[in-house]
Amino acid sequence: MFKQKEEKLCISCGNPVKGRSDKKFCDDYCRASYNNDLNSAVNNFVRNVNHALGKNRRILESLLPNGEATVKTTRDKLIEKGFQLKYHTHQYLTKTGKTYFYCYDYGYLPLENDWYLIVKREENH
Ligand SMILES: [Zn+2]
Repeated sequence: MFKQKEEKLCISCGNPVKGRSDKKFCDDYCRASYNNDLNSAVNNFVRNVNHALGKNRRILESLLPNGEATVKTTRDKLIEKGFQLKYHTHQYLTKTGKTYFYCYDYGYLPLENDWYLIVKREENH
């Protein structure tokens, strides 16, 4: 009985791939366009995260009155302004075991009952 040869399909366009069995693309054009799509997905993600971080920083800055070192706010107020708690640039662990989350030069410390202490980075840290 005739055994049908397993057909390999291009992962970019779905057309049959001829030639070596380890080939993933039918031609160079498909390879290039597939990799471009991957890159643009990565670039979109990076752009979105950068945007979210910049927005987080602006929100923290807007909440901290001029000349004040710290201010307290609520989680609701942060969320309402579009703050995304999952994005921060770095953390700072104090000697007393508290973790500050920073978005560039502005940061926050989660307090009890969904309160947050907002701080600005000191130049000498
Ligand atoms: Zn193809």
